[in-house]
Amino acid sequence: MDDRIEIRVGDITTLKVDAIVNAANNQLSGGSGVDGAIHRAAGAEQLQQACQLIGGCATGQVVKTKGFGLPAKAILHTVGPIWRGGGHNEPELLRSCYSECMTMAVREGYRSIAFPAISCGAYGYPTEQAVAIAVEEVDRCLQSFLCFRQVIFVCFDEAMASLYRQAT
Ligand code: ADP
Repeated sequence: MDDRIEIRVGDITTLKVDAIVNAANNQLSGGSGVDGAIHRAAGAEQLQQACQLIGGCATGQVVKTKGFGLPAKAILHTVGPIWRGGGHNEPELLRSCYSECMTMAVREGYRSIAFPAISCGAYGYPTEQAVAIAVEEVDRCLQSFLCFRQVIFVCFDEAMASLYRQAT
C-alpha cells in the first residue's frame, strides 16, 4: 500500500488539508451525517448558497466549493451510490467518486485530501466492500499522481478504522 495513505479516527471537519471530501446528495442540499457536519462547520448559509449556485451533482461525480469556515481550503462534494443490492452499478459509481475526487484534486493543484467513508452511513453500502473499493481506487490513482502528498481516510469510529487497516 502507498505510504502516502493514512487512516485516522476523528471528525473530518477539523482537518487542515487542501481539500476534504463531502458525501453529498444529488441536490447538494445538505443533510445528515458527514454532510450535515461539514455544512455546520463551514458555515451553513455560505455553503448552502454556493451549492445552490452549482445546482446539483450526479452520482459518482464531483463538484467543488471553497472551504469557507473550515481549516481545509476546499470541499469536494461527491455523491455516492445508494446501496440497492449491488446490481445497480453501485461498485462502479463508488469507484468513480474516489477517482473523480483525486483527479479534481490534482487538477486544482492540491496535494492533500481527506475522505470520509462515502456511502457507508445513510446510503447503506456494505462497509467492507466500500472500504475495499476506496483503498484500491485511491492507491491506483496515487500510482500516477506522484506529486500528491497525503490521502487521509477519516473514520468516525474505531471499528471503521480497523476495516481500513485490514484493507491496506
Ligand atoms: P452517506 O449518505 O454517503 O452514506 P453518511 O454521512 O451517512 O454518508 O456517512 C458516511 C460516513 O461518514 C459514515 O461512516 C459516518 O459514520 C461518517 N461520518 C459522519 N460524520 C462524520 C464526520 N464529522 N467526520 C468523518 N466521518 C463522519
